[in-house]
Amino acid sequence: MSKKILYFLLLCVVIIAAVSYFFYNQPDDVSGGIPVFNYHQVEDNANNPLALSVENFEKQMAYLSEKGYTAITADQLFAYLYQKGSLPPKPVLITFDDGYGGIYTNAYPIMKKYGFTAIIFLITDFVGRDSWYINWEQVKELQQAGFQFGSHTLSHGSLAEASPEEVRNQLVKSKEGIEWRLETPVRYLAYPGGYYNQQVKDAVRQAGYQAAFTVDFGRVSRASDSWALERVPILQSRWTFIDFYLRLHFTKLIEAAKELKSSL
Ligand SMILES: [Zn+2]
Repeated sequence: MSKKILYFLLLCVVIIAAVSYFFYNQPDDVSGGIPVFNYHQVEDNANNPLALSVENFEKQMAYLSEKGYTAITADQLFAYLYQKGSLPPKPVLITFDDGYGGIYTNAYPIMKKYGFTAIIFLITDFVGRDSWYINWEQVKELQQAGFQFGSHTLSHGSLAEASPEEVRNQLVKSKEGIEWRLETPVRYLAYPGGYYNQQVKDAVRQAGYQAAFTVDFGRVSRASDSWALERVPILQSRWTFIDFYLRLHFTKLIEAAKELKSSL
């Protein structure tokens, strides 16, 4: 390859990178939407992309704290989206799906250190089932520390494939179970596996929820569908921190890349 072509290619790469940066680097105020992180386990040696090592999780919380991000509650997000409430500067919402025990033993001490809160979506039949899952005493302690709880259904089956009766049962019974234990209303749902359709969304509304979270990639804004709120999944990978950094700062670029990939 001649030097000229090489320089030309290099120039192209630099131009594309610069253009991407200016168009896609997300502003930190709410105008670019609010990142809702989706975590699962925080556990060493779990050998699963959904499980972050304790060290990786701490690195991410330390970064958010150092850069002045504020962890808001789901209620604050909802008030901002639909009742025109205001948000602190650089807001992020931290969510955990499935209710693993590592949230209490590993994530909570780190979050406490940085003054962060989160909403935890519980699979109510699994709470306290074995040591992999959080138990009700731990849930209560986290509640007292300001954490919110939402439903991730009774047993984590796909709602998009369940009968209407089963969908209703999964939505209502899990909500009632948490409300009975914690004596506080449960307003939010996370779809198990991220699966939903129009009937499921209608059932969520009828069951008395206020909003529902998906795993559709993106940031939440006032244009979002409250029954299908976007999230930014955080995974363990070879480059966990870089991946986290890109997902936070270049959400739109990754979203566009994902759309392009799925349309090919
Ligand atoms: Zn789940």
